[in-house]
Amino acid sequence: MGRYRPERTAVNNDQCVVVGGGIAGLCAARVLADYAERVVLVEKDPLPDEPVLRRGVPQMAQPHALLEAGREVLEELFPGFCEDVLSSGGLMIDGASDMEYFAAGGLLAQGPNQHPMYCASRALFEGVVRRRVATLDNVACRPERRLVEVDLDDGAVCGVRIAGPDGQTEALEADVVVDATGRTSKTPAWLEENGYERPPVDELSVEVTYTTTVIDRPRDCRRLVFVPPAPPRTRGGVAIPIEDGQWHLAVQGMYGDDAPTDAESVRAFAESLPTGELGRLGADAWEDRDLTHYPFPSSIRRRYEDLERRPDGLVVVGDALASINPLYGQGMSIAALEALALHHVLAEGDNVSGRYFETVRSILDPMWETATANDLAYDRADGTNSLGTNLFNRYVGRLLRKAHDDGTLTDAYIRVLLLKEQPTSLLRPSVVRRVLFSR
Ligand SMILES: Cc1cc2nc3c(=O)[nH]c(=O)nc-3n(C[C@H](O)[C@H](O)[C@H](O)COP(=O)(O)OP(=O)(O)OC[C@H]3O[C@@H](n4cnc5c(N)ncnc54)[C@H](O)[C@@H]3O)c2cc1C
Repeated sequence: MGRYRPERTAVNNDQCVVVGGGIAGLCAARVLADYAERVVLVEKDPLPDEPVLRRGVPQMAQPHALLEAGREVLEELFPGFCEDVLSSGGLMIDGASDMEYFAAGGLLAQGPNQHPMYCASRALFEGVVRRRVATLDNVACRPERRLVEVDLDDGAVCGVRIAGPDGQTEALEADVVVDATGRTSKTPAWLEENGYERPPVDELSVEVTYTTTVIDRPRDCRRLVFVPPAPPRTRGGVAIPIEDGQWHLAVQGMYGDDAPTDAESVRAFAESLPTGELGRLGADAWEDRDLTHYPFPSSIRRRYEDLERRPDGLVVVGDALASINPLYGQGMSIAALEALALHHVLAEGDNVSGRYFETVRSILDPMWETATANDLAYDRADGTNSLGTNLFNRYVGRLLRKAHDDGTLTDAYIRVLLLKEQPTSLLRPSVVRRVLFSR
């Protein structure tokens, strides 16, 4: 997708409304600010200046990795974003030398190239983006306001009604309404109530659970340890360095192998992981701490692009559009890429809604396919992979085994993991040669 070029977008719209002040809503507000005289961002939670855990984003206390594709777009939308993350307490690590990634029975060898990764809590990432949006003159944030209804006029959205804490409702006019309300979006039901079809839904049960705590990290230690569940192993864990000299430490289960919720069982779960490293890091960590548990039942993709009819001016972003197994760490990056797609659509003329949903299809297809190809490889998955995908999975398994000793292969894999390259990049002749023929 082309880069963000705000000068391409002419202001030709009075007011747009974004509902939801998570990462997706904030990014959408940024690009709409180039297009409308005024953008109103409606959020049901309070929106303080500082990073905070918010009730409306229950996954906020869980570890969040920001992948390179997302970082790159956030830096374009908010120049200086990475500096802001650092000055707010986040840190930059090298995905090659600081990340210990366990896959296919061993740790991957260190690759030859550096991969800068910005690490912080989800609350900090969002806080940084929120502060930047708050500096935009034509964006008005309306915290503690909840969406009541989207209004329609002659087949197009024309505004929203919102309610404040006292229950008083208020009408806002809008030519574009962005639903950024997250996974529990009510837009499908609203479409049906208004005589439209609901979008078709792709859903794959994954039964992912996280149990997470925060532990102190030794001074100057920047290690990121990741032992993702991988078929047939249904359990994994991660330690991500975050602000305030801490790690987010989590155990993760899939398909019924639930991450436990009491300290003793969590410790045993972590110790059962293949590297033992997360067990060691968490040896004294789980007792007497707040453990936050998060269940994620299924990956969901709502296919608005397949609707024959939908109201003009309706846009859906972030988890409201696709909420994919969080183990792959794609959500914030998808939200940022969708905002970039919206920017290009706004710059190119009318029929915003139709062109937007068509454009994001090409963002979501590879994300969805990569995630589900892995999840469908579990016996308990409700479905099977095609022969081609099974062959590709076996090829990647072999690549990872070779990468225990071959850092060049680690490098190729990390690029895909961080969304710098498409999975098909692993089929380049230089990579295939090393996977199939090197000793
Ligand atoms: C356990 C877990 C781990 C994850 N790990 C990662 C990771 O490592 N990397 C990554 O990139 N992503 C990760 N994700 C995904 C990531 O959290 C989201 O995809 C991403 O933040 C985009 O969210 P969003 O803005 O679409 O929705 P949300 O963050 O859910 O925000 C929705 C907002 O809408 C507001 N809202 C809802 N209804 C209304 C209403 N009626 N009126 C007004 N406001 C409303 C809510 O209060 C909220 O602020 C993870 C998710 C989970 C569950």
